[in-house]
Amino acid sequence: MTRVLVVEDDAQLARALVINLQARRYEVDAAPDGATALRLLAAGRPDMILLDLGLPDMDGIDVIRALRGRSRSPVLVLSARSGSEDKIRALDAGADDYMTKPFSMDELLARLRAATRRTEEPPPVPHTDHLITTEEFTVDLVAMKVRRADRDVRLTPTEWHLLEILIRNPGKSVSRRRLLQEVWGPGYGGRTNYLRVYMAQLRRKLERDPSHPRHLITEPGMGYRFEA
Ligand code: CA
Repeated sequence: MTRVLVVEDDAQLARALVINLQARRYEVDAAPDGATALRLLAAGRPDMILLDLGLPDMDGIDVIRALRGRSRSPVLVLSARSGSEDKIRALDAGADDYMTKPFSMDELLARLRAATRRTEEPPPVPHTDHLITTEEFTVDLVAMKVRRADRDVRLTPTEWHLLEILIRNPGKSVSRRRLLQEVWGPGYGGRTNYLRVYMAQLRRKLERDPSHPRHLITEPGMGYRFEA
């Protein structure tokens, strides 16, 4: 049974979420504030977290940060904040998906199922070639580590996810839509501004000359391509 932790201070919405999730045979815990959420996260191991950003005692972003230190369970943010700044902050802190309130329960359930599939079925890695080396950096797909000039490069979960998809398709153009949908979720296929921001960050971290990338190549009007 999938365990979901609902972190939401709006009692009416929390109740609706709990009822709908239990009706679909999810096991549900509910927390009305950040402190309770962190206690429940430490005590149990939720498979998934639905998180409101506007909590009475702390910012939901801080809950994501605290959580990311110890768990890879998907976090779906539910927020009344619709600005792309808030979305980028939440996604960058380690959220997996973002829904703006009000949302439909059917869409929420569909995104939960998609998030479960993403965690349950990691793409298979042929164990002989999980190490990808370029003249600038090395990526270990199993250890999920990037090294450059004998140092570990710290990537955010979002940056890692993007890089991983490109690296698993060496020499092939991966469309912007596919990258957005795989990294941010089904509703994000048109958010090409997210990609520009994150590709620029990756290039700053990995390319010798970020303005003339040799490994993370833009395919004009199409998407991006990794070249070793
Ligand atoms: Ca709230």
